[in-house]
Parts: sequence; structure tokens; C-alpha cells
Amino acid sequence: MSTPPAMLHPELLAHDDPDAITRDGQRLDHAEAASKPLQSRPEPQPRGAKVYGNRPIDQAEAAARFIAAPEHEKMHDERLWDLRQKRDREMHGIAEWEELRSLASAIKEHTLSHLDQYLEQFEDNARSHGVHVHWARDAAEHNQIVHGILSDHGAKSLIKSKSMLTEECGFRPYMASVGIEVIETDLGERIQQLDNEDPSHVVVPAVHKLRTDVAEVFSRTIGTDPANSDVHYLAEAQREATRPLILKADAGMTGCNFAVAETGTFVVCTNEGNADLSANVPKLHIASIGIEKIIPRFEHLAVFVRLLSRSALGSPMTQYTSHFRGPRAGGEMHVVLVDNGRSERLGLEEFWTSLKCIRCGACMNTCPVYRRSGGLSYGATYSGPIGLIIDPTFNAHKYSNLPFASTLNGSCSNVCPVKINIHEQIYAWRRELVKRHEVPFAKQAAMKAAGELLSHPAAYRAAITAADTALAHLPRFVIYNGLNAWGRHREVPHPPKETFHSWYQANRGGKQ
Ligand code: SF4
Repeated sequence: MSTPPAMLHPELLAHDDPDAITRDGQRLDHAEAASKPLQSRPEPQPRGAKVYGNRPIDQAEAAARFIAAPEHEKMHDERLWDLRQKRDREMHGIAEWEELRSLASAIKEHTLSHLDQYLEQFEDNARSHGVHVHWARDAAEHNQIVHGILSDHGAKSLIKSKSMLTEECGFRPYMASVGIEVIETDLGERIQQLDNEDPSHVVVPAVHKLRTDVAEVFSRTIGTDPANSDVHYLAEAQREATRPLILKADAGMTGCNFAVAETGTFVVCTNEGNADLSANVPKLHIASIGIEKIIPRFEHLAVFVRLLSRSALGSPMTQYTSHFRGPRAGGEMHVVLVDNGRSERLGLEEFWTSLKCIRCGACMNTCPVYRRSGGLSYGATYSGPIGLIIDPTFNAHKYSNLPFASTLNGSCSNVCPVKINIHEQIYAWRRELVKRHEVPFAKQAAMKAAGELLSHPAAYRAAITAADTALAHLPRFVIYNGLNAWGRHREVPHPPKETFHSWYQANRGGKQ
């Protein structure tokens, strides 16, 4: 392993850590974030996008606040890029990686094209193992079904493992409104719950927080020492605070990574074993499953399990890959199959393949916009590139700005383990939003003018010459002012003395 470069954020680097786990004199990768309290004065954590009812989310405004917090921005960017690099190393270790991606994509497309059959097959097989199967049309129905099951058992507290579907359904606020206590068992998700924030990433929910932020949250909520940001201390304190709640909970809830039609079983992948606690400590287990999580056969699991953790965290496997088949002895198991807009998305010609997503987060880790703006700047359940194409299917007006938070560089599509053409769908959403009159007139007019200019070479060259002259002579305030959003965070490059075109004309006379 090569030595990490010196410019790494201190949270990612602890060369002098006497407790570091080493092999052959080198730090192990997973020890890179080992504990050393930061010496500097903590920088306040930038918060996410402001949400005002149905008003379009201003992602750029929230991103600007994130960028204005340099400690957070640097740590976030580097931590996610580190995951991307680890993913690349794992990918290069598997000769058949591209074949796996194609296979995963084909399995998902086949399943989505026969979804009704596979869902019914799953339901029949699950019922045959004594599982109660429920169908939820939308988020409200999901929450009511779960509430009904809990009420039938007189349950007042619920431990749950991380599930983006329950985030999508607004499950925790709903449960709070009916007086049922929900305790998240995933450490990152628990941090976010205690801080009253949504997860900022589908795999690492608190990745935008510095250790000092976590120390502040824990000191406020579970009474730890606010000056101690040692990760071992913080994790141990959380374990001590949460274990008693887990042991006395009335019910447990998990999400699902894959549900297998031919066996009626489902699989949950975690690194903390917390899904196993949620499913096995209380006698009542409820699993919320998005209908797109179905795969036809048990053997298909091998394809997805090999891709998932490598794409997500650059590790060969999740620590726990837990299979659930039926209720434990003396217990009860319920599965809620949730649509919540998925059937409608399946009918969208340009966007249906977004349902192939296995929520690995690789597209987020590689995205330059996401890495530098933080997941909460999107103001939606799903952030990063996959969020740009899923969120508008829920509400095209509210999330109308999101598809513009991309450079369309295509890196997201390149890393996606199920080969979703993410950047093309982002572009397609831009077209769709213009058609639906969801793009401000000024932006539409600017795009139209740019399109005209770029399709007329003579006019384009004249404009470039004029712009070069203007840039060289105009006072700074004329170029960098409130009207120039692009220039708020960037310097316009110095114009070259001559363009390639004029050099070519002068030196080659336009001839080959
Ligand atoms: S779109 Fe692809 S890369 Fe992004 S989270 Fe989903 S599966 Fe992973």
C-alpha cells in the first residue's frame, strides 16, 4: 500500500497513532480514520438546504454554504474520493468485473420487465414460511400498515436498521406523531437521528460530519464530554447508551437489499450487524421492502453481493450478509412490499432503468458536485447523481433545480455496478423540465442563446474575440457581480494571446 499523500485531511490521516493497526510496517486502509482528537477549534457544521413546502430546492445556495466551510468540504471530498479509489482497487482485482456489471444490469432489467410475476412468486413463497405479507401503495399506507402491526402487539418502541425506503416514507416523524419511539441501530444513522438531520449519503449517513460535530451532538444528547472527539470513546458511549434501548424494544425493523422470488427470502447487508439485532432481539420483526428489490433466483445473489460492497466502500464483502426466511421460534415476521411511485416510474420510457439501483452510493462518491456540496444540500431523500434522476419522479417542481447540479461528466455512469446511464438520464430530465415549464425563463433564454451561438461558427468566433477583448479591459466588477452566478466561486481564465483557430489560419493557411 502506498503512503497516503501529506495533503490529506487530519481526519483521514494519523501517522503518529500508537494504536494504529499495521501490517509490514504500513497502516491498514481501514485504520486510516483511526482516532486523534483534532487540535484546531471546531468549525461549525454547515446545515443542509432550506426546505419551504413545495418551493424548488435551492441546491446551489446550500452548496455555497458547504463550500464556505473549508474543513468540512475538504474532509468530505477526500473521504469520498478515498472510497472511490478503494472501489477502483477492488474492481481491478476482479477480471470479470465488466461481465458482472452487464449480468447485474440484465438480471435487473429482466426482473423489472416481469415484476408482477416475481412479486407474486415472492409473496407465495414467503407466506409458505409463515411470513405475513402486506402491500403498500404509497408512503402513507406503509406507515399505517406498520403502525397497525405495532398497535396489534401493543408495541411502544421499535429498533430499526438503516433503510432509505423508510426515509422516503417519512417513517420516523410519523411514528413520533403516534407516540412510538424509534431507535436507529446503525451508528451513522443514529448520529443523524440524534442531530435531527436526514442521512446525507445512502451508505454512510453521517459522512458530512467531522468528529468534532459528532462530539457536539453526543454531548448534547447522551451527555459525553464535548471536548473529547476520540472515535473509540464516542462509539463506546453510543453503544452504552443504545444497548439498553435495544434490549427492551418491543419490535424490530429492517430494510432489505435483495428479495429472492424463488425462495421467498430476503437479504440485508450491514457492516455493524445491527440488522441482526433489530431482527432477532425482539420477537416481532417487520421488513420494509421496495418492490424493485426483487431478484428472480438465489444464484443471482452472488452477482449482486460481489458488486455491492466493492462499489460502495471498496471492501470485498459487507461484514454481515444476513438471510431472513421466516419468523424465529415463538416470533412473528411481517414484510411490507412498498410501491410509492415505483410502478409509475417503471412506465417512464427514459427513466425506468433508474429502478435498477442497488443503493451502493458509488455514483455519489465519484461525483465532483456531490463531493464538494454534501448530500444535505439536495434537500431530498436521495442525493448525488442517482438523486437527480429519482427525486423529480416524486415531485418535478420541488426538485426542478436538481438535474442542473451536475457537470454531465459521465463518471457516475462509469462506476454504476448495474450500468444505469445516469448522466444521460440527468440530461433527459433537463429536457423534460423545460417541456413541463419547470425551468426559469432566464435560464431557458440563456441556453437558447448559447445553442444559437454554438451552431453558427462565424458568430461564435466573433463572440469569442469580443469576450477576450472585454475580459482583458473591463473593470473587475463588470465581470464579477451578482448577475454572474458562475463567477461567484470561480475566476474566469485569462484569455490566450491568440486562439487555436487564428494560429491555424496564420501558420497553416487553413490547409492540412
Ligand atoms: S445509481 Fe448505480 S452507482 Fe448510484 S447508488 Fe445506484 S447502483 Fe450505486
